[in-house]
Amino acid sequence: RFITFEGGEGAGKSTQLRRLAARLEALGLAVVATREPGGSPGAEQIRELLIHGEADRWDRTTEALLHSAARRDHLRCTVEPALAAGRWVLSDRFADSTAAYQGYGHGMAPETLQLLYGIAVGRLKPDLTLILDLPVEQGLERAAARRGGGARYEALDRAFHERVREGFLAIAGSEPERCAVLDASGDAEAVERAVWRCVAERLAL
Ligand code: C5P
Repeated sequence: RFITFEGGEGAGKSTQLRRLAARLEALGLAVVATREPGGSPGAEQIRELLIHGEADRWDRTTEALLHSAARRDHLRCTVEPALAAGRWVLSDRFADSTAAYQGYGHGMAPETLQLLYGIAVGRLKPDLTLILDLPVEQGLERAAARRGGGARYEALDRAFHERVREGFLAIAGSEPERCAVLDASGDAEAVERAVWRCVAERLAL
């Protein structure tokens, strides 16, 4: 099974992914926790190129190509072997982040991003995508409190993050069978319970 966590800055994806992994492991399931951009040695190197360095280093298309290259390596080296071995793969971000950030956020055409999806990913889709949703203001406050990685993106303007949030909600609306939108504004325990309810129900645990 392939489960992806998506959402804006400060939504709590990493925390919730760890908690879900622990719950699944407690059931005796083999779990691989991974992330994008990154998740394989090559893709982690590409992550460095994307996240560190000057903010305007890459034009939008180059940025999307780097995300796609990282995604392909992540799939080939980490995700596909784990799925083939019968493991559960939980990924902190996946292709919906490209649609939301590069598409809705930066204005790249959806057809271009679909083309890149076909090249980098092919037919594979997550079995379930959990979209952790919360008001932009609250997410940016959480992210600022946490500091560290991603600061370059977090510095982008508020309207950008609003578009990203709307993007995730639009994706969920267009693929309701794959996606679930969860309220991520509450405390970690409340969100963890909602995540668990959703996974147990949708994936028949
Ligand atoms: O999820 P995480 O905070 O590690 O993501 C790293 C940064 O990369 C975030 O600030 C996010 O905004 C950005 N990002 C992006 N486009 C993507 C995926 C992530 O701008 N497709």
